[in-house]
Amino acid sequence: MPVTPKETLRAPRKRSHEMMEQARRLMPGGVNSPVRAFDAVGGEPVFMARGRGSRVWDVDGNEYLDYIGSWGPLILGHAPAAVVAAIERTAREGTSFGAPTPLEIELARLVTRIFPSIERIRMVNSGTEATLSALRLARGATGRDLIVKAEGCYHGHADALLVKAGSGVVTLGIPGSPGVTEAVAAQTLTVPYNDIAALERVFSGRGREIACLILEPVAGNMGVVAPAQGYLAAARDITHRHGGLLILDEVMTGFRVALGGAQERFGVRADITTLGKIIGGGLPVGAYGGASDLMGKMAPEGAIYQAGTLSGNPLAMAAGIETIRQLMQPGVYEALERVSARLEAGLAAAAAKTGAAMTINRVGSMMTAFFTPDPVTDFASALKSDTRKHAAFFNRMLNAGVSLAPSQFEALFVSCAHTDADVDATIAAAHAALTD
Ligand code: PLP
Repeated sequence: MPVTPKETLRAPRKRSHEMMEQARRLMPGGVNSPVRAFDAVGGEPVFMARGRGSRVWDVDGNEYLDYIGSWGPLILGHAPAAVVAAIERTAREGTSFGAPTPLEIELARLVTRIFPSIERIRMVNSGTEATLSALRLARGATGRDLIVKAEGCYHGHADALLVKAGSGVVTLGIPGSPGVTEAVAAQTLTVPYNDIAALERVFSGRGREIACLILEPVAGNMGVVAPAQGYLAAARDITHRHGGLLILDEVMTGFRVALGGAQERFGVRADITTLGKIIGGGLPVGAYGGASDLMGKMAPEGAIYQAGTLSGNPLAMAAGIETIRQLMQPGVYEALERVSARLEAGLAAAAAKTGAAMTINRVGSMMTAFFTPDPVTDFASALKSDTRKHAAFFNRMLNAGVSLAPSQFEALFVSCAHTDADVDATIAAAHAALTD
C-alpha cells in the first residue's frame, strides 16, 4: 500500500521520546553519531524498530518510506533476504578469527575486478579508517606532509580531515573541532570544490610539500554536488604534475553512482580509492586500495603501518559480497537511475507548482533538494540554502511518513527497493509539505 501523506503517523512518538530521554543520560546527545541528532531541524531522533525494503518502522509502530538508507550502505533496501541469509550462514561458522578467511579473497577479487585502479586492497572497519589510512599511505609513499582537501567535503573524523568539513560538522556549525591541534590543521590546505584555478594556485605555491589531494568525486556531504565537467581530470593532472597522489574518496559513491563508482561514471582513475558503506552491505566495513606496488608499501610488505583486530570480518565480508553480487545483476543501475529520475522530476514539479525556491542536484541515486533558487556547485553556494525552510519541510515529510536525513547538507538515497508507487507517494507528500 503506498503511503499517503495524512494517514501514516498513526501513533504519537511516545515510546521514541521516552527512549530518547534514557539515551540522553547514557550517550552524548543520545546518539552514537551526531548526524542522527535533530539539532538542525528541531524535534528529536526517532527510534527505529525494524526495516524491510524501502520501509522502516519506529518503536511506536509508525511506518516510513526511508531515504536515509543507513546513510548510504543500504542500496538494496532494508534486510534484503540474500544478504541476511549470507550473514546467518557465515555467523554459524564463527564470527571472527583474527586469521585470514576465504571470504576476504572473494571480496577483494570482486572489488579489484570492478575498480580498475585498485590492484590490491586492504579492508578496514569504517570509512574514517579507510581515509586516514589512505592519507598515511600517501604521506609515507611521497615523504611529504601536506594534504589538500575541498571545503565542504567530509572524509570521516580523522584529525587531518575535519578541517572545513561537511556533514555533521557543518550541520552543527562546528568549524574546526576542538581537539584537533593547530599543528595538524596547518598541514591540511583547503580549496573550494569544483575550482580548478584554486587547485592550480595551491599546488603552484606548495606543490613540492603536498602528498595528496583527497576529493569526494561527487560531493555528498555538503548536500549532493556534481563535479563540473573536466574537474576530476584536472584534479588528477594538477596533482600528478606536482608529484602528489590523488585519493578519490568513494566511501559514498562507490557502488552507488555506478557499480565502479564515480571512477566508472566519470572516466577518472584514482591513485588511492577509499571505500565504505555499500562495500559492507550494512555491516561495518571500509577499504582502501590502489596500484599493487603502492599498496606494497603497507605493512607487513612495507614499512607504513596500519592494522585492525576485526578488519576483514567474515560477517561483514559476506554481507559485502552478497550485496555486490546483487548489484552485478543486469539492469540494476538502469532501474535505480529511472526511479531516481522520477523522484527528481516529481520533486521539481512539486516545487514549481507550490512556488518553492528549490534547486535539486542529483547524480544517480544520490540527491539533495536545496532550498535556494541558485545553482549549488560548491560549499559556499550550498550554504545559501534556507535551512529554516528545509527544517519545516523535513518535519512535514517525517510526519507524513517519509524519512529524510535531518540536515540540508546531506544526500537522500534511493534504493533498489524503492518502487514507482513509493516515489509517487513521496512526491505527493512533498507537494503537501511545500504547500503553506
Ligand atoms: N568519506 C565519505 C565520503 C563519507 O561520506 C563518510 C561518511 O559519511 C566517510 C568518509 C566516513 O565514513 P564512516 O562514517 O564509515 O567512518
